[in-house]
Amino acid sequence: MHPHEPHSPPPTGSSPEHTGGQPEPTPSLDKGAPQPSPWASSGGYPAPEQPAFPPPTSPYPPVAPNQYAPGHYPPGGPPMPPQHRPRGLMPWDRPARHPWEIPLLVVVIMMTSVAYLLAVLFMLIALFADPIVDEHGVEQTGSLISSPYVLLLLFAPVLLWAGRGLNFATQRVNGVRMSPTQFPEGYRMVQEAAARFGMHRAPDAYVVLGNGQINAFAAGHGFRRYVAVYSDLFEIGGAAREPDALAFIIGHEVGHIAAGHVSYWRQLGMFVAPWLPLLGASLIRAQEYTADNHGYCFSPRGASGAMATLAAGKYLNTDVGVDEMADRAAIEKGGFIWLVNAMASHPVLTWRMWALRDRSRPGPMFWRPSPPHPGMIPPPGGYPLATTPRALPPKPV
Ligand SMILES: [Zn+2]
Repeated sequence: MHPHEPHSPPPTGSSPEHTGGQPEPTPSLDKGAPQPSPWASSGGYPAPEQPAFPPPTSPYPPVAPNQYAPGHYPPGGPPMPPQHRPRGLMPWDRPARHPWEIPLLVVVIMMTSVAYLLAVLFMLIALFADPIVDEHGVEQTGSLISSPYVLLLLFAPVLLWAGRGLNFATQRVNGVRMSPTQFPEGYRMVQEAAARFGMHRAPDAYVVLGNGQINAFAAGHGFRRYVAVYSDLFEIGGAAREPDALAFIIGHEVGHIAAGHVSYWRQLGMFVAPWLPLLGASLIRAQEYTADNHGYCFSPRGASGAMATLAAGKYLNTDVGVDEMADRAAIEKGGFIWLVNAMASHPVLTWRMWALRDRSRPGPMFWRPSPPHPGMIPPPGGYPLATTPRALPPKPV
């Protein structure tokens, strides 16, 4: 294009296509009359009927919010509940370990090691030292290794190994193993949770008879790892019920495995934890918060449903106002409240709900949480009604 050629539209009356020797038509003086478009002649570009390249469309049918199957989220990650902030994540998108877990684990392993050393020392004294006999003629050194605690410690490696083997064998012969054809929904959740946590191999998974108990656990034997979900808890995962809550539970249990909680060597190092009154329970509570972070990262929408089920069971869970219950973590106070939590293997439910709702800090270990500012609890206007339309049909007897 010539540099002096004007880019602006030509002045009125000078038709750009009029370049021949034909007389120039008199322009209409009627300003109100519609002017013929200069592009209306045969030389113009007709508007295409449809674009040559239609915009790309998703091969998947559109789904409404809240309709994503657990683990099947759109690009960019799972939608976060509005009141939750996306926390609980470490760098590289891994769920966060509770900050108290490793320090407490180190202390417990040190105390367990001391206990093992003392047991071995007692055994050596009994075997090689000259026997000490008291005034009644009873040998004292020999009785050291007949103490049940010393025997328990001496045989801890074998006892732990055998106990894990028996536990695994029980699931293998009595449990309903999740597979692509048997409880496929649970099987898929386990596979996806393992992938989400970067595990090289997904654990085995079983549904075991709950007899009314709401529970699940993770364990291992040798190089095998598995999770077991009690049938009464697994029931919440039906399509018409709360699959997100079941996904949270499975994410929690697979998280125990991903975080190394069920390793043989770790459990051997924590062998005396049940006899360390507050220390052992605190370590287990920190592990539970870590597992909850895994469950949250896998199924953030399922956290409240899972907590409601743990609180009120599989039929009344939809009636639980999880916010209202979580708020009581900051309200209920006193020495016995402190003691009940301090001795518990799992964080008390109100504190656990609070931790899953407030993702800005780790779960409270020893002291009840305080609300962000005074007067916040209960919220202005009161709590919303907890009862929602029941998703559960009456259970046939
Ligand atoms: Zn747990």
